[in-house]
Parts: sequence; C-alpha cells; structure tokens
Amino acid sequence: MTGDRTSVAHPFGAGTLLQLIREGDGATRADLSALTGLARSTIAQRLEQLRSQGLLRELGESDSTGGRPPMMLAFNEDAGVALAADLGATHSRLAVTNLGGTVLAEDSADMPIASGPETVLDLVDERFHALLREVGRDDDVVRGIGIGVPGPVEHATGRPRNPPIMPGWDGYPIPERFADRYRVPVLVDNDVNIMALGEHWTNWAAVDHLLFIKVGTGIGCGIVVAGRIHRGAEGAAGDIGHIRVAAGDEADSIVCSCGNVGCLEALAGGGAMAARLRDQGLDAADSRAVVELARAGEPAAVRLVRDSGRLIGEVLAASVNLYNPSVIVIGGDVSQAHEQLLAGVREVVYQRSLPLATRHLRVVRSQLADRAGVIGAAVMVIEHVLSPAAIDAAIAAAPPGPRELAGAGD
Ligand SMILES: [Zn+2]
Repeated sequence: MTGDRTSVAHPFGAGTLLQLIREGDGATRADLSALTGLARSTIAQRLEQLRSQGLLRELGESDSTGGRPPMMLAFNEDAGVALAADLGATHSRLAVTNLGGTVLAEDSADMPIASGPETVLDLVDERFHALLREVGRDDDVVRGIGIGVPGPVEHATGRPRNPPIMPGWDGYPIPERFADRYRVPVLVDNDVNIMALGEHWTNWAAVDHLLFIKVGTGIGCGIVVAGRIHRGAEGAAGDIGHIRVAAGDEADSIVCSCGNVGCLEALAGGGAMAARLRDQGLDAADSRAVVELARAGEPAAVRLVRDSGRLIGEVLAASVNLYNPSVIVIGGDVSQAHEQLLAGVREVVYQRSLPLATRHLRVVRSQLADRAGVIGAAVMVIEHVLSPAAIDAAIAAAPPGPRELAGAGD
C-alpha cells in the first residue's frame, strides 16, 4: 500500500487550489480566480470540498482596500498527522508531526537495524502508538507513514533491496506491516534521501538544485533536482561512497564493504577514520568515537577529519561540475564533529570545480543535524498525501455532502 501513483489531478481541481493556498499564492478567492481563470462559483464549490475534508481554515478578513474585505484562506495543518521514523544502523528517531511538518512529539531509541524487520517494526509500531497517545490523537487522524532505512529501497514498493547492513530486510514488505492498524499510504526511502528532503523543505525550499551529503559510518548523497528527490533508474543515484578517489599501494590495501578498493567511503567514512585512529593506538570503536575525539581536540582526529573533508571535496568537485547545484549541505554525525570537515570540503570544491559552477555555490552544514531524517520522513508523507492528485482522489472517494449535490456541475 504505497498510495495510488497513477491518478492524475484535475488541472484546476480542489487539490490544485489547496496547493496554491499552501504555497501562499492563493490567499483569497480573488487570488485563486485570477491564478486559475475559474469562475467564482466554481472556486466556492471546490473550497467547500476542501472544507468538507477539514483541510481549510479561514483566517478572518484581510486589510480592506474598499468594499467588503476578502476572507483570508489558509491550509489547516492540524487536519491530520504524519508518523515518521528514521531508522539508523544502531539508533532510531520517531516523530508525530502535523501536516505542516511541525513535530508534535518525538522519541529516540537504541534499535539495532540488524535485529531484523519483525523486531524493529514491532518496536516502531509500539512507539508510534505511544506517541499518538502522548499527543492525545487517535489512529484515525493518521494520514500517512514515512520510514527511512539505512540502505537502498525500491521506493515504489517500499522494499529494501540488497541492503548491506540490514540482514533479513532484503525484499521485506515494510508498508504491509502497518496495513492492519492504519489504512494510509506507507512510504519508504533510504535515509540519505529523506535527510535531503527534510533539509531542503525546511531550510532551502526556494533552492531548486541541492546536494545533501551524509557523512556517518558510510558516505552517501541525496540529490534534489528541480525541487524533487532524484532517485535514478534503479534508485541507486547518489551512492557517492563507492566512487574511486585514490589509487596506490595504501589505498589499494583497504578493501571497501562493496569489495572494491580506493572507494571514498573506505578512505573517508567515519568507520574508516575510526580504524585509522585505532592503528595509531587511540580508543576509537566507531564513527561516534571519532566525533568525540575530534570534539575533544585530539590532533590526530582533527587532522583525519580535515583529510576526510578534502577527499569528500574531490568527489563533490566532480559532482558540482556535472550537476551545478546551488547548495551543498553536509550532514551526518561526522559533520557535527568539527569545522575542519566542512573546511576540507570547501577547500577542494572551490579549488577544483569550474568558476561558473561555484560562483554562487554555498557549502553549509546541516541545520537540522540529527533530526533531518525524521523531519524528511514526515515531509515525504505530507507531500504525498497533500499532492493535488491525492486530494482530488480523496474528495472523489468521499460520500457527497448535501451542498455538493445541490450545486453539482461546473
Ligand atoms: Zn566501495
């Protein structure tokens, strides 16, 4: 149950009007009429359809310029909630949000993804239920569920595909697990894509082209093209961790999790940095330990973080020439470790990319930090369930109200 992707919105149906209202372009009936060319009576009828779904609020009257002041229209963000989960390798974050993406309640927990889908999803289901109780809402206000996982996903079916660090999850039908309790769309994507979506929606909505780089144990990239996540032909777009960045005896001696040598992830990921620090006699079990050592100012860790930034910068410099983004956002736990990571990335990107591509390019740190994924999972749901096609389908499926029967035909 991943929702109906084949339905098409009416060009100026109620769903499109809602979108214009949500984007702030259609604040009054007169605005909507001017934007769509629809008769006022048709607009009134479609607004009534939105109102019958609980999606509309009237904010009172705007400043009058003479005559009867127009009523200001707004989207009712509390018309329902989204359930969101960002499942990491060892740690997960869950939230209930309203339909404006505002977090109403959230929770995080140690939850090893390697425990397998039954164990993990039972816990997610239980926590979702507890969060809904915490905000005093029932199951029937849930409009959709969004889940991010640390591996590749076939987005259309919500099934992980050969995920290297998720034993037992390959092909597992995650959406079906929630079908009994909630009759709503369940959308699944990989963690980097939802982080990109969360950061773009929250902080860079006016930017069309953005790259989000997650630097954690591994390294991945979420690509926003023309405001939307670009997944590629097989959903494998953005897997920059396995681009070859180095050759030579040292690089060739480090075998990556993918089986190749010289991969970016095997040389610059948090896992690789931890291994290097252990070689130098430091106590660094994983990428979190690298973060702690760098924050504490341990010179070897700080230097490694800078070098890692430079290597990531090499791949990003090529990506910038290929793709010409306006913004590169660096996220993931290692990005929060030390300014030297961002400094290393910037140094190489500005030096190696073409001047035209970097003229207005910004390279910044994720502002949502460890909440980017869970916010993005909610955004994925909100954008899906409030799309014009989904709204028109929901209205078509609803039993007609007395007013619609009386005023049918447009
Ligand atoms: Zn690799």
